[in-house]
Amino acid sequence: MIKAILLDIEGTTTPIDFVHKKLFPFAKARLNDFIGAGLASLGNTLVDLRAEYKRDFQDQIYGRNFNESDPATIVNYLEFLIDVDRKSTPLKSIQGEIWKAGYESGELVSELFPDVFRAIENWRSKGLSVAIFSSGSVLAQQLIFKYSNAGDLGPFISAYFDTTTGKKQESASYSTIARELGVKPGEMLFVSDVVTELDAAHDAGARTALSMRPGNGLVKAPIAHDAVGSLTDLEI
Ligand SMILES: [Mg+2]
Repeated sequence: MIKAILLDIEGTTTPIDFVHKKLFPFAKARLNDFIGAGLASLGNTLVDLRAEYKRDFQDQIYGRNFNESDPATIVNYLEFLIDVDRKSTPLKSIQGEIWKAGYESGELVSELFPDVFRAIENWRSKGLSVAIFSSGSVLAQQLIFKYSNAGDLGPFISAYFDTTTGKKQESASYSTIARELGVKPGEMLFVSDVVTELDAAHDAGARTALSMRPGNGLVKAPIAHDAVGSLTDLEI
């Protein structure tokens, strides 16, 4: 019996385009203002960013300056990290703060597919818990569900997991998540648009379903997982 639903975000609850064509450009366009507004508030994030820069400079991956008294050099380096799609913790933290301000001011509203709210509400009414597993930071995940086009879904979500729990392609991550949710892996259903993630969850003993949404990449058949076009189509 399924007791917990674990959802991916990009390509499952949210159009991939919202993340890549809205969220990322939004943060990139505001880096200058955010960094210029004051480095003092960055604290440890700036320390981590400098350490990352030093490694890149030593490895000759990035050859430009990085100087705390010249915010433009910090912005340049952050733009470099975005352009190479680096999964950088300080970058994610800065993006999270920019998005938070954008959502709070109403400039940003997250896009959830129209069935998401109904599906989550239905699962909760049956006593299931609903959790999220995404490579975005926990802050970014919380914002997506709090400031959505379907309203604040935060109260419906039991837990958020990011890659600090483990990689999405590793089965151990799904064992850990099941344990943290207080269920057996076989009592958890994971929904994602990425087959390697579903394979990992399946290896951990979880039930799996492939999310097929407009804008998702093509998945080669045959696949070893159920496939749904909408979360309300899942048979629990
Ligand atoms: Mg995805």
